Amino acid sequence: MTSLDELPLRDDLRGLTPYGAPQAPLPVALNVNENTHPVPEAVVGEILDDVALALSEVNRYPDREFTELREALADYLGHGLTADQVWAGNGSNEVLQHIMQAFAGPGRTVFGFAPTYSMYPLIAQGTGAQWVAGTREDDYSITPESAAEQVAAADPDVVLLCSPNNPTGTPLGLDVIEAVYAAARGVVVVDEAYHEFAPKDAVSALSLLPGSPRLAISRTMSKAFAFAGARVGYLAADPAFIDALRLVRLPYHLSALTQAAATAALRNAGTMLQMVDEIVEQRDRISATLEALGYRPHPSWSNFVLFGGVDDPKALWRALYDRGVLIRDVGIPGHLRVSAGTESETTAFLEALASIGSAS
Ligand SMILES: *Cc1c(COP(=O)(O)O)cnc(C)c1O
Repeated sequence: MTSLDELPLRDDLRGLTPYGAPQAPLPVALNVNENTHPVPEAVVGEILDDVALALSEVNRYPDREFTELREALADYLGHGLTADQVWAGNGSNEVLQHIMQAFAGPGRTVFGFAPTYSMYPLIAQGTGAQWVAGTREDDYSITPESAAEQVAAADPDVVLLCSPNNPTGTPLGLDVIEAVYAAARGVVVVDEAYHEFAPKDAVSALSLLPGSPRLAISRTMSKAFAFAGARVGYLAADPAFIDALRLVRLPYHLSALTQAAATAALRNAGTMLQMVDEIVEQRDRISATLEALGYRPHPSWSNFVLFGGVDDPKALWRALYDRGVLIRDVGIPGHLRVSAGTESETTAFLEALASIGSAS
């Protein structure tokens, strides 16, 4: 068998490891922050009807500009946004890739405050750009002063701000985003993949868009919308920013089936999002129970909890695995991350954890 080393691979890709969250068929999978509630049956029916209609024309290429979907996304986001300020892709990972293809690439740098979403360095390096990691306070928060200082010093072409942050759950204040935008020469992306799980009065970075042509806010249907398998992510930005993304996307990158399914799902946004409150309740229950067991959960505005006080993360991860519960070792010493599941999945996790013993 040929090894990777023998192939004429790009030098800058040698030694990299692909994204690899384990996909194990365990009864309780709480490792990749999915919404573990299925799409409501009534909506499944409506999506199926629209996908069937799309199939009747699938001999033709889809609408390259996915206009109907962009209108639906603009409506969902509110803030007076219109379709020309909205972009979408096969997951927000693809949307982020479009941004990096347009604004990063060889000889350029992409900056983020570590620890943050593990795909950022991979997508950046995939375009030939260099990843530069900034630092956070001990509790994973970021102050506007430190953020501005670090961004000014690194002078990156792209800044990625994850709000709330994955894998820590940490909220990010608008003051930090404003400070970073003022300090940056390059584009600033706020990844709001988990925004729907934040407190209802949390203000989205969408409110900063007017007058900020280098700013983009990305979202996804993978988490709150329970649509991870459909692969739909999107962003809002200045129409000129969107024009830059048109230069790098592949023609017809969103299939007619994806467009039909996502548009039907958005028409039922209220129903699709009905489980969010329940997930937030389970998240807070996880934090409270972890604390009672002697672990140290970090405050979370997302649908997962990062917790410290774990003596041996690999051993605890394995012990849970052996009990049918899959969570995530994100590589932070003394920590593990768990997604909030349904009430019974959450109970299964908490009971398995309690049966293993308490924290250090
Ligand atoms: C899950 C996640 C995404 C979503 O990725 P998709 O490609 O839309 O499934 C984006 N950003 C962060 C930080 C995430 O955790």
